[in-house]
Amino acid sequence: MRIKADDIVTVISGDGKGQQGKVIRVIPRKGKVVVQNQAYVLKHVRKTQKNPQGGRLQMESPIDISNVRLVCPACSEGTTVVMRKGDDGKRVRVCKKCQEEI
Ligand SMILES: [Zn+2]
Repeated sequence: MRIKADDIVTVISGDGKGQQGKVIRVIPRKGKVVVQNQAYVLKHVRKTQKNPQGGRLQMESPIDISNVRLVCPACSEGTTVVMRKGDDGKRVRVCKKCQEEI
């Protein structure tokens, strides 16, 4: 998974196309990310004791990871992340455009 929580991503397809947001949660098992203020769904909630009003609840819905692109903090562009071995032998994420470590 090349995208992590707190990354800024830009949406490249779907309803929120062109918008940016922060990744709140990554769901590796499903290959999806939840992006702040993106892909809202209205969930209808039944009246319960806990929620006597019932009604509709706004929630962020997961977006397929192939529909978002990481925004590089160095060059502020939507970019492809490449994995590279750093000096200490650890794998680091690098911006394909400006070669900066992300
Ligand atoms: Zn960059």
